[in-house]
Amino acid sequence: MENPLTPEVLADPVALTRALVDIESVSLNEKEIAHHVEEVLRSVPHLDVQRHQNTVMARTEVGRSQRVVLAGHLDTVPLNDNFPSKREGDLIYGCGTSDMKSGVAYALHLAVSLAEPRYDVTYLFYEAEEIDSRYNGLTLVANAHPEWLAADFAVLLEPTYGVVEAGCQGTLRAIVTTTGRRAHSARSWRGVNAIHAAGEALNRLAGYQARTVTIDGCIYREGLNAVGIHGGVAGNVVPDRCEIEVNYRFAPDRSPAEAEAHVREVFAGLEVNLVDVAPGALPGLTAAPAREFLTAVGEEPVAKLGWTDVARFAALGIPALNFGPGDPNLAHAPDEHVEIGKIRDGAATLHRWLAPA
Ligand SMILES: [Zn+2]
Repeated sequence: MENPLTPEVLADPVALTRALVDIESVSLNEKEIAHHVEEVLRSVPHLDVQRHQNTVMARTEVGRSQRVVLAGHLDTVPLNDNFPSKREGDLIYGCGTSDMKSGVAYALHLAVSLAEPRYDVTYLFYEAEEIDSRYNGLTLVANAHPEWLAADFAVLLEPTYGVVEAGCQGTLRAIVTTTGRRAHSARSWRGVNAIHAAGEALNRLAGYQARTVTIDGCIYREGLNAVGIHGGVAGNVVPDRCEIEVNYRFAPDRSPAEAEAHVREVFAGLEVNLVDVAPGALPGLTAAPAREFLTAVGEEPVAKLGWTDVARFAALGIPALNFGPGDPNLAHAPDEHVEIGKIRDGAATLHRWLAPA
């Protein structure tokens, strides 16, 4: 199979975005794109290249005192009548244009063109970000080759529409259960209605005042919400059990244990069972490469509200942020697209930051 990532395409982040979009790579089908990316990188003399399954790592060994990671996932969500790419005016439409082949294009373009960057750079092109985390290329590499991730700072090239999104909020899910006593609804006074009891939990949620937390200039808005409710036995039975699933999105100044304690406090007196919790990540914008990156961007960072792989780096003690040309609101949408001007602006920013002075 011929490699569409020709030297001419690699030299232009816009053409490269299109070429990457046009290699179909829905999660778990990244073999072909990983093959093409690996082949390109192996042809570059200044890079050390390794592969683990469908994740490709390439790094410079210039001997700089600090190392940064540029990372992008190769997979996309399923196609939605939006493949291959098409150009309309200043926009490129197609699956993965925003999330995140335009970001991957930055990393690949810089990897082949910057032989002596200001920091040593590790480029990570990884598989399966859009699905269950056990398939995630970063998870696999963290287990199999943790040394590939060693760095002082990481940039994930996820869509942010050209602004810096720093840190991320944690997320916790729990089940709040109310119980009662089952009875025939014709003799309901003999029972205790667990769904009615759930009203207490819902009242606490409706009256809940979520925190707003500012860290390193980034504003994080928390939220505690019911995201599901389940109860009832039959049309003639007073129910003895009701379960409310709640989701707490918490600012990264709280640990998972503190987040859990907070949820238990909100629902004091009720049964609370933790389903899962993922830690947030502090913005970590004080490291030197991070400060210089912000200078190159020239705009104030904002808080990342969703959970992203930034948190995986944070868990390894590596400050990380998101920066990419795509509009995050268009990620996973059928009309997903990216602005050509945004691709060019971001490429120039990364060049300012990484090119030798
Ligand atoms: Zn993404």
